[in-house]
Amino acid sequence: MGDTLFGKIIRREIPADIVYEDDDVLAFRDINPQAPVHVLFIPKNPVATLNDLAPDDAVLVGKLVLAASAWAKREGFADNGYRCVMNCNRDGGQTVYHIHLHLLAGRALHWPPG
Ligand code: AMP
Repeated sequence: MGDTLFGKIIRREIPADIVYEDDDVLAFRDINPQAPVHVLFIPKNPVATLNDLAPDDAVLVGKLVLAASAWAKREGFADNGYRCVMNCNRDGGQTVYHIHLHLLAGRALHWPPG
């Protein structure tokens, strides 16, 4: 797949407000936050869309979710609640073709989303 700006963030070629990192996952604040807390959790190994995931990626996707829920607990808003979203392709609103999990928190979130 082609490189994206998230690849550049992983390689520290462009700045980001990084809040979490481990061997497989990087998390940084969204540049255009939609809630008081809006963090993107991305795999360091890029996959373009959810459609491109293979069975072997199950552990990777699990790590994204676990990293997000652990971070929510550490930051103290897990009990109030939060939302995790992964957009896929045009109708899903995906704009960056390197899968990412949006973690939104800090206000009551509406449902259904727009
Ligand atoms: P999506 O629309 O689901 O593909 O989400 C992409 C997200 O990346 C959007 O919420 C953007 O605001 C965010 N974004 C784009 N460029 C940057 C950047 N340089 N640093 C942090 N977040 C970004």
